[in-house]
Amino acid sequence: MENKWSRLGFAKSTESPVTIMNVCAMLKQNLNAAYPRPPVLLGHGDPSAFPCFRTSPVAEEAVVDALKSAKFNSYAPSLGLLQARRSIAEYLSRDLPYKLLPDDVFVTSGCKDAIQVMINVLARAGSNVLLPRPGFPRYETFCAFSQLEVRHYELLPEKGWEVCLDSIEALTDEKTAAIVVINPGNPCGNVYSHRHLREIAETAKKLGILVIADEVYGHLCFGDDPFVPMGIFGSVVPVITLGSISKRWAVPGWRLGWIAINDPLKMLQESAIVECIKICLDCSPEPVTFIQGAIPKILQDTTEQFFSSTNSILKEAAEICFNKVNEIPCIACPHKPQGSIFVMVKLDVSLLEDIKDDMDFCLKLAKEESVVVLPGTVVGMKNWLRITYAVEPLCLEDGLERIKAFCHRRSATP
Ligand SMILES: *Cc1c(COP(=O)(O)O)cnc(C)c1O
Repeated sequence: MENKWSRLGFAKSTESPVTIMNVCAMLKQNLNAAYPRPPVLLGHGDPSAFPCFRTSPVAEEAVVDALKSAKFNSYAPSLGLLQARRSIAEYLSRDLPYKLLPDDVFVTSGCKDAIQVMINVLARAGSNVLLPRPGFPRYETFCAFSQLEVRHYELLPEKGWEVCLDSIEALTDEKTAAIVVINPGNPCGNVYSHRHLREIAETAKKLGILVIADEVYGHLCFGDDPFVPMGIFGSVVPVITLGSISKRWAVPGWRLGWIAINDPLKMLQESAIVECIKICLDCSPEPVTFIQGAIPKILQDTTEQFFSSTNSILKEAAEICFNKVNEIPCIACPHKPQGSIFVMVKLDVSLLEDIKDDMDFCLKLAKEESVVVLPGTVVGMKNWLRITYAVEPLCLEDGLERIKAFCHRRSATP
């Protein structure tokens, strides 16, 4: 007899998606338990566990004070507490040629929630969206769930992972609503120049599409180019900026992010998109009220010293990573990371014995050396690897030495 619950038809759609977390969890289950040293996890990026990346004391005090004030025990409005919206508007306006108002900002449960809201908004309009390859697979997961059509444009490794502008023109049609640009980049560690961001904005203007700027790594830059927010081109084309405190303050568990509408010429007024964002926010949970209450102090009072010390640790770590990777014949790094906490490296499996592809490499690396790195396939690039260097420097060096030993042992004899 047929199970009466099967009429609900979930069975076909319940395969768990290929997410970074799921693949890292699978690799962690395959670690070499007999390895004499602790595992080194360079797959999933979350530096908050390491003492050298501990958040600013200002941020911790802000949360404690907000909690103890007993002023933030109520429900927050679905768009966010006014003082939180105002302080985020002021924080973002520091780098813009115009001022954002509290009404231009919505508070979300981290940047992931901001992504989900925007994907739902675009899906309701029956449009399609341009996503980068390689990219951040959470976008694809949300798009699949909301049945929003995805079109991938390429990032060019030989050009510092710049956006392939030609491919954008070819992909865009009447139904294309937006292009997502992640800068500083995950997974590539790119930081785009003012010139390139302007080119993207001009292209979007010409094609009549919005720019969704994922700036969750905003200001985490340590190369030659400073961080330039896409919002400075808001009068060229409307820019919707997504961000959070998760990465710059190393507190992803606090779940506080935002959506900011950069549209000083009010080009979006007739489109009702902002109204649609508000409806979608009504359907998603508000971030915890006392974290919202702490936000003004976190954004205003965190010291420059905290930010510069984080960036200098990341710079050193990126340097170690780049140099070590280049000592290993079967992997190559086309572009030294300039920001965020990741780098993409190319794997040449033809130089290795009995390694089929990037998945196979990562699985055997975990089993033999107790090191986790992310197969590039998960972020859209087969036979590449994504490595995070946001771990304690000694741990990073140890991990990279173990990758080197693995590659050496497996190297194909000609
Ligand atoms: C980490 C990350 C996010 C999610 O940020 P949260 O604030 O933790 O939700 C969004 N986009 C990119 C590119 C990320 O790497």
